[in-house]
Amino acid sequence: MIVEMNTGATKEQVDHVVDRAHSLGFEVQLNIGTEKTVVAILGSDTGKTDTDVFAVLPGVQSVSRVMKPYKLASREFHPRASKINVSGVEIGGQRVVIMAGPCAVESEKQLMDTARAVQKLGASVVRGGAFKPRTSPFSFQGLGQDALKMLLKVKSDLGIPVITEVIDIQGIEPVAKHADILPVGARNMQNFALLRELSKLKHPILLKRGLSATVTEWLTAADYLLAQGNRRVILCERGIRTFEDTVRFSLDISSIPVIKQVSHLPVIVDPSHAAGHWAYVPSIAKAAIAAGADGILIEVHPKPEEALVDGLQSLDIPNFERLMKDLRPIAQAVGRYV
Ligand code: PEP
Ligand code: MN
Repeated sequence: MIVEMNTGATKEQVDHVVDRAHSLGFEVQLNIGTEKTVVAILGSDTGKTDTDVFAVLPGVQSVSRVMKPYKLASREFHPRASKINVSGVEIGGQRVVIMAGPCAVESEKQLMDTARAVQKLGASVVRGGAFKPRTSPFSFQGLGQDALKMLLKVKSDLGIPVITEVIDIQGIEPVAKHADILPVGARNMQNFALLRELSKLKHPILLKRGLSATVTEWLTAADYLLAQGNRRVILCERGIRTFEDTVRFSLDISSIPVIKQVSHLPVIVDPSHAAGHWAYVPSIAKAAIAAGADGILIEVHPKPEEALVDGLQSLDIPNFERLMKDLRPIAQAVGRYV
């Protein structure tokens, strides 16, 4: 960390910063200029020490980090792109992985019909929410345990991995017994108690970007999962909240090349929750593949007009089929395949 002192900061104020650094076990390097003093705090960039520890001291103008607050998720630590194998499906390899299915599991027939259709059209993972975090507690909250059983049936009947969100610590054990990938929803990205428990599992965790999280905050949360021992972390860009109100969230397409540059973790895109409307989903999905995403997590429903959750943003089967066809040349243009 670099601590920049105010112009005219006193010797006592500089000594105070130095003493504080020493008390925390850090070495310092002083750069005393004619106008101002800069104190380099050596070894403090692990993310464990907050910049506020120094910013709060009298005479300090600003404190900045030299290193990123994440390490295990960074390219410097792991130069080659990570590939994550999920029950035989490789995420982060040459193939762009399509994960598709309904927002929520509503019945065995709805899930099975969707799963069969999307698998036939090229999806290699089936999604379906069993526990749904909702804005109103009176809205449909998912079929819970029954939905997990239905997902397991999809897995055993169709031989396709399934992905379903875990919303709290109590849900980890049942979800882990039934699902191949455990997503952490956008609203839980910084639920560190949940991340800590998930990091003890061997299952791949799909970490969705928080609604207002910067890429650095998102990677720092991913780092926390990695640091506790789970090395199978997949990132998912799903749009962030901006001033724009014509879409549900603004998909940050630039986060994909940024992640690819600074991290080795695979990144997939959820165009459905970003768009909020099915009509925008195909364009966003195509843009994501063109930008280098390793996969797409997309909501598909056989009858969107009857969906209990997120019908407006769900593609029906014919639209999903059209999208799959349109994705092929785009993937090919960027050296991948669907
Ligand atoms: C979901 O994938 O069903 C979901 C609720 O997504 P998010 O957490 O990104 O809003
Ligand atoms: Mn949804």
